[in-house]
Amino acid sequence: MAVSLDIGALRARRPAEPVNVEATKGDGLGCHAGKDAMRAAAEAAGMSETLEQLRQDYPAGPHDQPQSMCPAFGSLRVGLRMRRTATILSGSACCVYGLTFTSHFYGARRSVGYVPFNSETLVTGKLFEDIREAVHASAKPEECDAVVVINLCVPTASGVPLRLLPKEIDGVRIIGIDVPGFGVPTHAEAKDVLAGAMLKFARSEAERGPVQAPRGGRSERPSVALLGEMFPADPVVIGALLEPLGLSAGPVVPTREWRELYAALDATAVAAIHPFYTASIREFEAAGRPIVGSAPVGHDGTADWLSAIGNACDVPAEKIAAAQNRILPAIRGALSAMPIKGRITLSGYEGSELLVARLLIESGAEVPYVGTACPRTPWSEPDRVWLEERGVTIRYRASLEDDLSAFHDFRPDLAIGTTPVVQHAKERGTPALYFTNLISARPLMGAAGAGSLARVINAALANKPRFDAMRDFFEGVGTGHAAGIWQEIPTRKASPKVAAPVKPVGEMA
Ligand code: SF4
Repeated sequence: MAVSLDIGALRARRPAEPVNVEATKGDGLGCHAGKDAMRAAAEAAGMSETLEQLRQDYPAGPHDQPQSMCPAFGSLRVGLRMRRTATILSGSACCVYGLTFTSHFYGARRSVGYVPFNSETLVTGKLFEDIREAVHASAKPEECDAVVVINLCVPTASGVPLRLLPKEIDGVRIIGIDVPGFGVPTHAEAKDVLAGAMLKFARSEAERGPVQAPRGGRSERPSVALLGEMFPADPVVIGALLEPLGLSAGPVVPTREWRELYAALDATAVAAIHPFYTASIREFEAAGRPIVGSAPVGHDGTADWLSAIGNACDVPAEKIAAAQNRILPAIRGALSAMPIKGRITLSGYEGSELLVARLLIESGAEVPYVGTACPRTPWSEPDRVWLEERGVTIRYRASLEDDLSAFHDFRPDLAIGTTPVVQHAKERGTPALYFTNLISARPLMGAAGAGSLARVINAALANKPRFDAMRDFFEGVGTGHAAGIWQEIPTRKASPKVAAPVKPVGEMA
């Protein structure tokens, strides 16, 4: 049915902010439109400032967009993991389908809000009104501390102005963020977009007056906030490493609850365990907190990290030395008890790739190559220096092609990487481990990390004969004529001549 539009009325409903009409033309905008088209549309829609901030926080190059999932998943996941937090997506239905599917695959167990749009609601500004309505409906103080609204690619490119949403409704904070695939390179960095926005909000609240104390009360010892999603045992291990310095482990950012943001900002120092949280670090620095890079992995990493944290928190040198003397022999013991023998290439998009490489090398492995989808930042510099001193090639913003070419150049005994790298290696009979599920999902810090990593790596290395047997068995399957794809255009062949029917014996004359 055709719908006649009252253009005058539509114009009257337009918000004060510009909305980009181009976004609705032809096929619309999305991953398929190309980054340049999306960026140009967003700039035209008045989003230059947002894009410039994203460019500064998450620098591109040499390869500007690693091949990973939709970046917005990082922000969505952070929101879904927080208590008393509602999350609403604004974007194309296909993007929202993929994002909700992935979040439930990873066990979100929480509803994801969605404000759909069409060309008309986008052009007239009705989409923004719909978002505002959805935010008002979701902001129930008895259920929520915060409502997060995430603009995906098309609403960002169209300039849907989330900054005009109310900052608070009945005490519920409203956090609107733009997380376009053409501005945030990885889903890891998208976690920082939301964490940084929340820290900024919490910091302004703390500056205005008293705020909620942490659920378990404030620690008697000065605390160190931990930046980066890590294996649940790691903050406990880090707490034990900090104890002889007279310090305690503070909240992990991204936090699981709004009030933890205040406790994180209240920490004496911040450990940037994952080095790409640029927006969050900006907020901590604005709160006057010193930032310490790298992490307590392996012997050398732990020794340096204890010194750096101790210095940042004004711990006396003798106390730092005493802590090192108490902790380091156990780590050295764990490393030598579980040696790793073999050549390993390593790549991933979690941001902890350099730390894992350090641990592998201290365990005895040869690691010629580390690729990470994340950018080079000051907070991973100690790891870069340590690794390069040992001859490791590090590729920041690594592409799949970089990782595969390293696999062919270095011919590893084990490839640790993303799904396509793992698949490529296994097809060639080389054992491989998926970084996200098998390496990130175990402790890395202190003595616990040394032992745990070696167990899974050695088990994978020992699988080589099975991979050889499988490769021999399946040789040729899935390639050439066995690929299930026509090798040439089928042609109709002439029908064979049909022989004259043979009469049954009984009918013979
Ligand atoms: S929101 Fe994600 S899936 Fe959708 S167009 Fe942007 S990058 Fe692609």
